[in-house]
Amino acid sequence: MCSCKLPVYLVLLSILFAPVKNSFENIFNEYDWNKVCEKIHLVTDADVERAIQLAGHGTPEDFLALVSPAAKNHLPEMMQMSYALTRKRFGKTIQLFIPMYLSNECNNICTYCGFSFGNKIPRVTLTDEEILNEVAVIKAMGYEHILLVTGEDQNRVGVDYLSHAIELIRPHFAHISLEVQPLDKSEYEKLIPFGLNTVLVYQETYHKENYKLYHPKGKKSNFSYRLATPERLGESGIHKIGLGVLLGLEDWRTDSFFTALHLNFLEKNFWQTKYSISFPRLRPAEGDFIAKHPMSETDLLQLICAFRIYNENVELSLSTRERALFRDKVFPLGVTSMSAGSKTDPGGYSSNKNALEQFHIDDDRTPFEIAEVVRSRGFDVVWKDWDAVLG
Ligand code: SF4
Repeated sequence: MCSCKLPVYLVLLSILFAPVKNSFENIFNEYDWNKVCEKIHLVTDADVERAIQLAGHGTPEDFLALVSPAAKNHLPEMMQMSYALTRKRFGKTIQLFIPMYLSNECNNICTYCGFSFGNKIPRVTLTDEEILNEVAVIKAMGYEHILLVTGEDQNRVGVDYLSHAIELIRPHFAHISLEVQPLDKSEYEKLIPFGLNTVLVYQETYHKENYKLYHPKGKKSNFSYRLATPERLGESGIHKIGLGVLLGLEDWRTDSFFTALHLNFLEKNFWQTKYSISFPRLRPAEGDFIAKHPMSETDLLQLICAFRIYNENVELSLSTRERALFRDKVFPLGVTSMSAGSKTDPGGYSSNKNALEQFHIDDDRTPFEIAEVVRSRGFDVVWKDWDAVLG
């Protein structure tokens, strides 16, 4: 029995006045989308120069300067700084990873996605045998880091399916990442012991009102639940969290400011967790969705440099959504990992099930070809996650 029993009134007082941990949503609610957007357009050259000089020590407000239209005139300096910071922290290495789509079943309607519930496409969820066939092909390419992807269907690809798939795949890979429906904290805690290392969860857009228009049906239409997912992941003790938005849905500068704000919050509250940022630009898919706010390649380059200058430790990932020439030019300037040889349909590596891809990829070179290009630029190719290599 405890010998230091406190009087009941003191216990109640300590509960009442205990510091309440702020949630990201509380911080997010202090900002107004339109005002942030206006502020970005009022940034001056002096603000940009100051943000570049703060390299690695800036605040989200400084990041805001780096993604502004004014920063476009400073792109050469940003590229130089981003290159230098990346080499200092990550050396001359590029990590390659590959996505494996386990299922294209989905109960959500996302107006921009080929897997959307309303699309009449063949639906496939891989069996154990099919998963292992995919594993064999991917292993033969040399990969040790795999990203498992599904649509959002709690019944067909819920936690039991995912834990089983991870258990099946774990012996073959050094690092397993997951990009699936947002889960509860207890569900993440269940998956981690099976060998889950990283979870990617993109907010798609931080424009709360318009988020509803893009996600009219299904669990994904709950903006707040998705927004709090990285916090649940942090609380679950996951090793790494990947953030990002779907670039092109809304103004990329404003959306990226909120991503930086989110990263800042998570790093302060879950400092032992590692973080990565991805840059998915809207690509053609099933349906007739047209990006309202298209982002150019120069914009994307600016954004990559902005994130590196803002945060020298965050991993930055560039996918096969981008064309080969662009990836070859940009990867040395801040990127730390790239997907290569990707298929975005379940079973796409080992069979041709006509299951329909989620979106069209633009860089369709083989991993071997991409690795050769990376090496020809004086970089080492890393097939595992950093931690497996450096640990
Ligand atoms: S984006 Fe994800 S949740 Fe939305 S329809 Fe596509 S697979 Fe489903």
